[in-house]
Amino acid sequence: MKNNFNDMSVEEFRKNGFKLVNWIADYLKDIEKYPPLSQVNPGDILKRIPQTPPQSGEDIEKVLNDVDKILMDGITHWNHPGFMAYFNSTSSAPGILAELLSAALNTNGMLWKTSPAFTELERSMMNWFRQMVGLPENYWGIIYDTASTSSMHAIASAREQLNLGFREKGMTGRNDVPRLRLYCSEHAHSSIDKGAVTLGIGLEGIRKIAVNEKFEMIPEKLEVAIKEDLSNGWKPFCVVATVGTTSTTSIDPVEEIAAICEKHNLWLHVDSAYAGVTAMIPEMKWITKGWERADSIVINPHKWMFTPMDLSIYFTRKPEVLKRAFSLVPEYLKTKQDDEVENLMDYGIQLGRRFRSLKLWFIIRYFGVEGLAARIKNHIDLAMEFAKWIDEEKDFERMAPVPFSTVCFRFNPGSKTEDQLNKINERLLEEINASGKLFLSHTKLNGKYAIRLTIGSIRHKRRHVVDAFNLIEELARS
Ligand SMILES: *Cc1c(COP(=O)(O)O)cnc(C)c1O
Repeated sequence: MKNNFNDMSVEEFRKNGFKLVNWIADYLKDIEKYPPLSQVNPGDILKRIPQTPPQSGEDIEKVLNDVDKILMDGITHWNHPGFMAYFNSTSSAPGILAELLSAALNTNGMLWKTSPAFTELERSMMNWFRQMVGLPENYWGIIYDTASTSSMHAIASAREQLNLGFREKGMTGRNDVPRLRLYCSEHAHSSIDKGAVTLGIGLEGIRKIAVNEKFEMIPEKLEVAIKEDLSNGWKPFCVVATVGTTSTTSIDPVEEIAAICEKHNLWLHVDSAYAGVTAMIPEMKWITKGWERADSIVINPHKWMFTPMDLSIYFTRKPEVLKRAFSLVPEYLKTKQDDEVENLMDYGIQLGRRFRSLKLWFIIRYFGVEGLAARIKNHIDLAMEFAKWIDEEKDFERMAPVPFSTVCFRFNPGSKTEDQLNKINERLLEEINASGKLFLSHTKLNGKYAIRLTIGSIRHKRRHVVDAFNLIEELARS
């Protein structure tokens, strides 16, 4: 039937395109009909998919129908307002439209020449976003897929800045280079460890600095660690400060850490993947104290700016170091414009790149900076309200301060050992997540099991937070 070597006909595309857009519109309208957390067992979805591919083509309608029949039970709905686990990335309609357009244009922004509008829109969006979060003009930005990738590039730049010839000679089999040391708090994200593993720093090359009772890095301990390492022959080269840690959203004191980095000439990377977008809100500007002294910063619009996966922004004051680390131009990629344009392939590990800046263009223009800031501010207000209810309820205990929109708490009816409390709260979380109404996550704080609730979905309204509190209370009491 389909052996004429053509793509789907324009008529067929139009018909099914409308059908899919209608499906998406209904999905977003009716999302609360689904459970936020998929309730299937491992292998359930796999069983429904034929083990061998079809030899001849099928109707696209059949495939679209199978989305409901085969996949939907196995979808955990990140867009669901009952999804308050992790940092709950949600998409928004303008972001979905931009993704569709990006797939249709299918442009690859490896070089300026391979799509001038790609490179220039990304440059503009980085400039817009830089202003939105109040960074100075000397910050240059680029879009990567995730914060893990952004931070890996930060650590690679820090390593390049040492000028130890790693690019040419590598790191192994040499006795002329010391072992490198990177510092971050005990609460830094695991992506920092992964970046260090990837880059040959090794897990032993990471020194975790202790935190205070608010889970913030203690700068004095950082200073002591650096001095100790220096006297033992290590080469300190990078510090990662986290603004909005993953467990409790605590804020490392960037200003004090920056002073230590300047003194010892270390690269300072600020990981603000989740919380960085709050810098758009005038009342939250304080979180960026000291950022102008950082060498690099990562912020993820795909976390709390209603951007479909994936889109992470990496800002640096030293793009030339990034370029030195990664630029490698084979003959076939040389162009006449190389001297006057920016080729994005020079600034990272990947050659091909998706047209992600379209999502920022659609989202920022549709909601406006004030609209985005107001939504994010509302989430913080709702989280503060939820935290207050926890504080006022005598059998509940708040486990960490709430600077943003994430609340760590536990059920503590009194006269129980820590061990019993851990088990009770683990069980409570299981029941919450099996309810089909709410999905929360957990963490451990000083050995204590804590349930974690995050507000940040574009679909979060006050009633969802009220419902969540009532459900948690009801399940805890039973
Ligand atoms: C989520 C998060 C990350 C990892 O983000 P990805 O984009 O999934 O790689 C890193 N650091 C912090 C602080 C985060 O909140």
